[in-house]
Amino acid sequence: MTGRILIVDGTATNRILMKVRLGAACYDTILASDLAEALTLAHGTAPDLVLADAALPDATGDMLCRAIRSDAVLHDLPIVILGDPRDTEARLAAFEAGADDVLAKPVSDVVLQARLRSLLRDRDKIVPPPRRGLAEPVVPYQSPPHIALIADDTVAAMSLRNLLRRHLPSQIVVASRVEALAGFGGGPSPDVIVIRTSAAGLTGMLGLLSELRVRSATRDAALVLLAPGAEAQLAALALDMGACDLIGAEASPHEIALRLGKAVARKREEDQWRKSVASELRMASTDPLTGLFNRRHALPELARIADESQQSGRPFAVLMLDIDRFKTVNDTLGHAAGDRVLCEIADRLTAAMAPGDLLARIGGEEFLVVLPDCPVPMAERAAENLRRLVANQPVLLARGQGPLRVTTSVGIAVSEPGLRPSDVLDRADQALLSCKMNGRNRVLAHKPAA
Ligand code: GH3
Ligand code: MG
Ligand code: MG
Repeated sequence: MTGRILIVDGTATNRILMKVRLGAACYDTILASDLAEALTLAHGTAPDLVLADAALPDATGDMLCRAIRSDAVLHDLPIVILGDPRDTEARLAAFEAGADDVLAKPVSDVVLQARLRSLLRDRDKIVPPPRRGLAEPVVPYQSPPHIALIADDTVAAMSLRNLLRRHLPSQIVVASRVEALAGFGGGPSPDVIVIRTSAAGLTGMLGLLSELRVRSATRDAALVLLAPGAEAQLAALALDMGACDLIGAEASPHEIALRLGKAVARKREEDQWRKSVASELRMASTDPLTGLFNRRHALPELARIADESQQSGRPFAVLMLDIDRFKTVNDTLGHAAGDRVLCEIADRLTAAMAPGDLLARIGGEEFLVVLPDCPVPMAERAAENLRRLVANQPVLLARGQGPLRVTTSVGIAVSEPGLRPSDVLDRADQALLSCKMNGRNRVLAHKPAA
């Protein structure tokens, strides 16, 4: 992965050394000597990440974070601060101001590279994070954050839970590995799973981390590794394995709570995004009135069923249904009554479909049904069944409009070797036209012209 990293350090040799280190890992680098220059360069060069020393000539790490987080253009840039490991106040201040991580100087290459990779990976996700860091005006939680704590030492986990609760209003449960792997007993999935481990248990916990990443109940949760005393190099692996944060020995409960709060906020943003993508996909493929698939979805599905039919050698049937004299319904009873009829018929047709069948509303009062593995006699029976489902029971309308008898005509065509899906569709259309010319409320299969 490549990325452009803005290095901010007041000492020229530090800048050059970092440039060489990052250059060796194929990062493109930009160098700034203080905050003012960093802001100017960031605007001009659009870096992917800022790596800044905590003590700049004109600012501290937290000041830099605040300046970036409050900038209309730069606010979502990932920021890593390199600081003095003993200065816990400065660490906390940087996290509070929106740093993504504060790494202790001197930072090992393995830890630094793993951190950069994980932050750039998150940035590359299609998720558009509106704002990063802790300084953001966090969107109010819809429900309290739900955090699961998994630890190899249950007593330590309980005391950590009690400490965290003071700083982070949330529901924190202590769970075992087995419970986590079993999806927390089918209960609500946690927003964040914190895996706390001693140095000795780290390797085993890394295995757990990758298991959780792929299981459906836990794959969307933010995974945070809390590994005080663990060898930094091994712990850094956790980031490459999908953890979103790695918290070491130096973090106070306050800092841990801040970082977990941030993981929750980001995970919820991702949830929102996932939801909106899913609903957009649904909207693009369905008809809002009846909830059936629309034409745009149906035609590629028809092509897919045709492909499968070609491979299996078993024919598929296309049924075109059109409501008879539907215009009269609108003209005499109004458009709302017409809509009611469309929805009722859509429901009746839906109830008659088997898994693998395709039903779509492809025009105003036209429905398409595609039945895989369906020779002519079977298609005729299915079509007759649908016709009866509509005709045999009147549609109940609004009060005062009484039950309405509605009928449909159904044209049938069954695939043959060499016919394109659109040919089968045309044939079903022709058969439908014959139904209309022969009195409606009937089923006819396409007949080759004599
Ligand atoms: P035929 O038996 O020959 O099919 O006659 P028809 O009246 O059903 O056919 P026509 O194509 O002339 O009329 C279809 C009508 O469907 C016209 C249009 O106003 C109505 N329509 C199309 N979409 C909707 C809709 O979403 N809601 C309602 N209420 N009516 C619709
Ligand atoms: Mg029509
Ligand atoms: Mg019609």
